[in-house]
Amino acid sequence: MATHIEVHCPANGQFVRSVPITPADEVRAIVDRARVAQVAWGAKSVGERAQFLRKVRAVVLARQDDIVECLVRQNGKPRTEGLIHEVMEHLELLTYFAEEGERILEPQPIAAHLLVHRHSYIHFKARGVLGVIAPWNFPFTIPFGAVAMGLLAGNAIVVKPSEFTPLVADLGREIYLQAGLDPDLLQIVHGYGDVGAALIDGGIDMLEFTGSVATGRKVAAMCGERLIPCVTELGGKAPALVLADAPLERTANAVTWGGLANAGQVCASIERLLVDDAIYEKFVPVLVEKVKALRLGDAMLNAEFDVGPLVNERQLDIVERLVNDAVSKGAVVAVGGKRVAGPGFFFEPTVLLNCTVEMDILTKETFGPVIPVMRVVGEDAMIAEANRSSLGLLAYVFTRRTAHGRKLAERIRAGTVMVNDVLASHAMAETPWAGVKNSGIGCVHSDEGLRHMCEARHVNYDVLPWLSKELWWFPYHSRHQALFRRSLGGLFGRGVDRLKRIVA
Ligand code: NDP
Repeated sequence: MATHIEVHCPANGQFVRSVPITPADEVRAIVDRARVAQVAWGAKSVGERAQFLRKVRAVVLARQDDIVECLVRQNGKPRTEGLIHEVMEHLELLTYFAEEGERILEPQPIAAHLLVHRHSYIHFKARGVLGVIAPWNFPFTIPFGAVAMGLLAGNAIVVKPSEFTPLVADLGREIYLQAGLDPDLLQIVHGYGDVGAALIDGGIDMLEFTGSVATGRKVAAMCGERLIPCVTELGGKAPALVLADAPLERTANAVTWGGLANAGQVCASIERLLVDDAIYEKFVPVLVEKVKALRLGDAMLNAEFDVGPLVNERQLDIVERLVNDAVSKGAVVAVGGKRVAGPGFFFEPTVLLNCTVEMDILTKETFGPVIPVMRVVGEDAMIAEANRSSLGLLAYVFTRRTAHGRKLAERIRAGTVMVNDVLASHAMAETPWAGVKNSGIGCVHSDEGLRHMCEARHVNYDVLPWLSKELWWFPYHSRHQALFRRSLGGLFGRGVDRLKRIVA
């Protein structure tokens, strides 16, 4: 059995470092240590914990080059993407939650409807130990977004990063410890799926999982067995609707970036481009020219390039298979279409025309630099196509009429629909990131995401302390029954509506 993960750079195959695997039978002891450390951390005020996030922010700012370098070596992404998608996004998340955490986690009063002599409020207390299982495509911002929010909520955290990006997780932890965190409050367990499963089985109080639908089903089932709350952020097959009046330049730029950033390895990537028949002939050539102009590259060799490699051979095989399947069923390659001879796992930025729903490329997650284009007649047909997928994470609408775009957006079954933009809502920590349908359960980011990392506990108390008993307590009397019978009409019948009208 392997004792180490050998990390190689996907851009050139060079060996980077080996990382010891955490034996699965040691994971429970790690969770136990986190639980002990959590007691003092959870007892701190939200304000004190928010202050810690500001310290982390200072360290992230100071070490931005280290983070980008680590991402480049392990993930192969262009430096600009490391800086914008990962460093800047994390800084923004730290800032939002450091500033807003106290407000978000303030106790919330609930106005009573019937029992007006009793008052209620919800207060938020840490769940305990939060398990975070993360993918390789955004190996800093995804797990450490959960780490920052989970710590602010008062939890201890144990992270299981992807086997393809363990060094980024180690560096992230180093940064949090440099900001002064007790080492037991943030621990990393390295390994494959069995280590992830050991984490769920190791006594955690909640899981945040980001990954594929297939693994999401498995981890959700494990959490269900153990009755642990579980947020699942899973796959996407985002449609982009290019309406007849879409602005050509902005839309073509947005689609190029939204389909091919991070070599298309984004759960929110444009994976189905639906172009209205009325604009198709004008729009497609502009898009194809933009994709043709993209430069592939290895950040260790090239100072400037646009698209990096895929993360591994398996991913490359999937993309190649889906493209070949589409071509065998009639798709036309307008640009790209094949893998690049090694070293590195590169696939040419690709636009496929004449795509139809019989092709796997329009139904299965590609996670590669391919934009499959479908010609569609009219908006109703576009909405029907957009909603055809079993996934529902992101969707996009391009039009000059923003108000009309918003109306269409509301007809699409996706967790987020952006009008005239792509991908960027993940960088808006204040907004929810959540899938519908098979794209997941629950949300990350946003006030709701932070509160969900806590137990929402309800306190109900009396404001008439001199009442010796309530009318509905023992002993029961027939006179009380008569009183209740008379009151029901007043409370719930027409009487109450009349009363409300008078008060209004
Ligand atoms: P996987 O589902 O293969 O893996 C995700 C994580 O789960 C990895 O750390 C993996 O470890 C671990 N894991 C695997 N098997 C188990 C198991 N049985 N129990 C517990 N943990 C397990 O996804 P990928 O890493 O390939 O990531 C790509 C997927 O993530 C895509 O489908 C993408 O759409 C989705 N994603 C979703 C996002 C969202 O916000 N909705 C954001 C980013 C990605 P190991 O790597 O060692 O196998």
